[in-house]
Amino acid sequence: MSFLQKRIFCGLGLAILSALLGCGSQTQAASNSPQGVFIDSKTISFFQAQFDEVKACSQFSKGSFSDLSVIMMPPSFPCPYYSSGCSGEYAYPNLVKIGQFGSWKHEVIHYLLNVNTGDPDTDHKSSLFQTCAI
Ligand SMILES: [Zn+2]
Repeated sequence: MSFLQKRIFCGLGLAILSALLGCGSQTQAASNSPQGVFIDSKTISFFQAQFDEVKACSQFSKGSFSDLSVIMMPPSFPCPYYSSGCSGEYAYPNLVKIGQFGSWKHEVIHYLLNVNTGDPDTDHKSSLFQTCAI
C-alpha cells in the first residue's frame, strides 16, 4: 500500500468512524452532513496513470506519485490565486488539492516543476502546461 493510499484509507477510516458515531440512519446521511467524495482503488489508479503520463511527457527525472498528498475538495474551493475559487491547487512541497479530476495533470506539472527546477511556475510560463496537461 502506497503512502497516498494509506492517507486516503486513513481518511476513509475516520469517515467510517464518524458515521458509526453519528446519529443518521443506516441508509441516509444526516441532512446537515457535507457531501462526500467516493474514492476507491480505481481513483488511485487514475491518479497514478495520469501522473506517470505527465512525468513521461515532461521528461523530468525527479518526483514520484507516492511523494504526493492529495486532498479531494469541492469542485470550486477558496484559494489565494483566484477570487472565484480554484478547481485544483498545488502547495509546496507535495500537497495537491483537487476539486475536479481535470485539474490533476495541471497540478502535477506544478509539483514536477518545483521538484526538478525549484520553481512551481505559478505564472504558468512553462510550455509543459500546454503540452503535457491535455
Ligand atoms: Zn496552475
